[in-house]
Amino acid sequence: MSVTPDPLRVAVVGGGIGGLAAALAVARSGHHVTLVERASRFGEIGAGLQLAPNASLALEQLGVLPAVRRTAVAPPRLVMMDALTGDEVTSLDLRSAAYTERFAHPYLVTHRTDLHAALLTACQEHPSVTLRTGHTVTHVDQDESGARLHFAESPAVLAADAVVAADGLRSRLRQALVGDGDPVCSRYVAFRGALPTRRMTGRMSQHAASEAVMVWAGPRMHLVQYPVRRGELYNQVAVFESDHYTPDSDDWGTEAELEERFAGACRTVRDALPLVSRDRRWPLYDRLPVDTWVHGRIVLLGDAAHPMLQYLAQGACQALEDAVALGQALGRYGDPGEAFAAYAAQRTQRAADIQTQARRFGEICHLEGMGATFRNLHLRSRGSDEFDDMSWVWTPAAAFVPAR
Ligand SMILES: Cc1cc2nc3c(=O)[nH]c(=O)nc-3n(C[C@H](O)[C@H](O)[C@H](O)COP(=O)(O)OP(=O)(O)OC[C@H]3O[C@@H](n4cnc5c(N)ncnc54)[C@H](O)[C@@H]3O)c2cc1C
Repeated sequence: MSVTPDPLRVAVVGGGIGGLAAALAVARSGHHVTLVERASRFGEIGAGLQLAPNASLALEQLGVLPAVRRTAVAPPRLVMMDALTGDEVTSLDLRSAAYTERFAHPYLVTHRTDLHAALLTACQEHPSVTLRTGHTVTHVDQDESGARLHFAESPAVLAADAVVAADGLRSRLRQALVGDGDPVCSRYVAFRGALPTRRMTGRMSQHAASEAVMVWAGPRMHLVQYPVRRGELYNQVAVFESDHYTPDSDDWGTEAELEERFAGACRTVRDALPLVSRDRRWPLYDRLPVDTWVHGRIVLLGDAAHPMLQYLAQGACQALEDAVALGQALGRYGDPGEAFAAYAAQRTQRAADIQTQARRFGEICHLEGMGATFRNLHLRSRGSDEFDDMSWVWTPAAAFVPAR
């Protein structure tokens, strides 16, 4: 272990939230970073993202929390409603003393584009980060002297001492290194997007004005709503299980099924449904956890390492935790192998626990009949300042928390 390691040349593959955060963290720890993204422009989709306090802490560590807070909303409450009856089941008070004492960092909701732009700007402004779009990595070869990235668009090769694979759910590098096949399809589909808040009317406008995160839980479906971009936009995500799933086909989880599944919902949810974006359907996938994130000079990060279902709203939060942990490890160890081993030791179990729990959380959210009744009874007995269920998720591993 050396105290101030010599700068390494680190290549980051993928310019999503995970890749940009990793590039920033690694550059801030003293290394030279080249990030390559296959798309011709950097960007994110037009939907929202919840950032629990573990993500706010990570954003602070990356130096971008003030920029993110300029547009993000800090919701006062997380509210779970019964999608059939329209009754409130339970809520968490995010402005309570109990919340502040336990977490210190804010719970935020943001437009993905705003978070992505904050990370991109910080990367563009960092003298040790080089950003390249229109570069699709086909494969990486490595030996004792270094790694070389090969691209679909050109015969030019990028040489690096270490490579971070942040290339998402369908990571080509993970496929080559871990080889665990296709992601697992949950048979659930999401339709999502953000629209001007002024378009919400009636009861929906009251919920939107409250700035709470609303989760309407129903049998094999749910609707999530929250404000983003200073409250100017309202994000809606409608999720349901399809009865017509067929592998290798896009004919299932259709708009017609969406309407069918939500037909029995309460009036407020039915009124919201026509305003849910239908631009694109998002089949929902995850994978079983693996602890083989490190392959010589190549390491996995974000969805490439731990794709998870979205029910705990933690995929991006975990990618941000990954980025900070990787930056810290590369700031401490001069040898990529040692740094990657330290990063993996800190991250794999926590990410695996959240991947696993996200599946369970989805099952609880989508209960029907007596299961839903017992769930609601149990949750109604919980106080709005009781955070024991979520505390382990919203609190990063101790080693990650900076010494005060
Ligand atoms: C419906 C839904 C709701 C969600 N809600 C939340 C939430 O509220 N909170 C939360 O924390 N998470 C949430 N998530 C999860 C979150 O969106 C993801 O975990 C996160 O965006 C992953 O970021 P990433 O950078 O790892 O991957 P990606 O965003 O997939 O980025 C990968 C990047 O790599 C690029 N790339 C891919 N292959 C190559 C290649 N060969 N060469 C070069 N570039 C390549 C891609 O173009 C892309 O830009 C949600 C997910 C879904 C589906």
